[in-house]
Amino acid sequence: MPARPKTIAIIVAAGRGARAGAGGPKQYRMLAGETVLARTAKAFLAHPRIDAVRVIIHADDGALYADAMKEICGAGKLLPPVTGGDERQDSVRIGLESVESEKPEIVLIHDAARPFIDEATILRVIDCAAREGGAVAALPVFDTLKKADAGAHPFIETTIPRDRLWRAQTPQGFGYEAILAAHRAAKGETLTDDAAVAERAGIKVRLVAGSPDNMKITQAEDFGMAEILLGRKRAMNEFRTGHGFDVHEFEPGDAVILCGVSIPHDRKLKGHSDADAGMHALTDAILGAIGEGDIGDHFPPSEPKWKGAPSRVFLEKARELVGEKGGAITHCDVTLICEAPKIGPHRNVMREALAQILQIAPDRVSVKATTTEQLGFAGRREGVAALATATVRLDARDN
Ligand code: MG
Repeated sequence: MPARPKTIAIIVAAGRGARAGAGGPKQYRMLAGETVLARTAKAFLAHPRIDAVRVIIHADDGALYADAMKEICGAGKLLPPVTGGDERQDSVRIGLESVESEKPEIVLIHDAARPFIDEATILRVIDCAAREGGAVAALPVFDTLKKADAGAHPFIETTIPRDRLWRAQTPQGFGYEAILAAHRAAKGETLTDDAAVAERAGIKVRLVAGSPDNMKITQAEDFGMAEILLGRKRAMNEFRTGHGFDVHEFEPGDAVILCGVSIPHDRKLKGHSDADAGMHALTDAILGAIGEGDIGDHFPPSEPKWKGAPSRVFLEKARELVGEKGGAITHCDVTLICEAPKIGPHRNVMREALAQILQIAPDRVSVKATTTEQLGFAGRREGVAALATATVRLDARDN
C-alpha cells in the first residue's frame, strides 16, 4: 500500500431515522444553522487524506440533499449522490459499487448521523486500514452491561463482563477490493455494521481510538446534546503562529521608514514600495499564520500601482484577511537588525503605529532591535533586515 493510498469516504445517509421523532430524516435536520449531513460531509471534504466523498441517499431525498449541500457542492471532492437500497447494508454495497471506476485503495464508511467526527480519528482509521486491511474507530465500554428479559419492565437476567467489550463507531475503513467482495458475499444477510461484514469474510479488523464526541444522533433528545457539544467546541479557540523575514538595501537618501516611522538617516532603504522591511516582515508573519501566502501574492512587485506605496496598505490587507476568517491578531513581535540608525528611541512610536494599523492594543505589539556585531551585510551597513512573528486566534473548527 502506498504511503498515501487513494481514499474515498462513503457517507451513508439513506436512513429514515424513525427513532429521531418528527421533523423528517435526522440527517437533514438543522444543527446550529447547518444540516447534520452537511457538517458530516464537510469533515471528510476538508480532510487532506480524503480524495473524494460519496453520499448515499434515500430515493425520496434528492431535493433535501440538494438543499443541504448547496453551499458546498462546489467542493471538487464531492461526487454526485447515489440512491441507496432498502437496508443500510444494501446502501453501503451500492455505495461501494458506485466508486469502482474511481479505483480507491481505501474506503471509509461513515454514518451521516455522526457529524462530530474529527480530523485525527479519520486519520487514525485511514492509516490503520492501509496497514492492516480493516480499522474501526471504537471506545471501550465503561458502563456495566446487563442482559434483561423481554418484558416492558424487564428484570435483569445476567451481568455481562465488560472487559474486552468496545463500542464501535464510524468511520470504519477497509481495503476497497476486499470490503466490496465481502459486501457482495454477505448480500441478503443482516449484519449490524461493516466491520461485521468484514469479519464474516475473514478480514482482520483492528480497533483504533474513536472519540467520545463522535456521537451518533439517534433519538430526538440527541439533538439537544449535539447543540451543547457544538457550543463547547465553538468556545475553544485555535491559535496559529506565523513568521516573516525581509531585507532591504540602503541607497542614498535622508531617512529610512521602519515600522511606519520615518527616521532621519544619511541613507534610505531601496525598494518598490516605501521599503519598510519591518512592516513587510510583519505582514508576511500574519499572512503565514492564516495560510494566505505572502506579501508578493497579494501585491505583486510587477504591478506599477504599488510603486512607492506606503507599506501600511499591505499590513491593513493582512489584518482584513484575518478579520474575514473571523480571527483576531493577539500578538506580534518584530526584530529589526541593523547597525544604524538607532532604533531604540523610536520603538514605542513604532509599536503604537503598528498597533493602530492592526487595530489592537499597543501592548500586543513588540518591536526590538539588534545589531549583528558588525558581521554580514547588516554589519557592513549595507541594509536592514527584519524578523517578525504573529499569533492569530481563530475560532475552533466545528470539525
Ligand atoms: Mg520588502
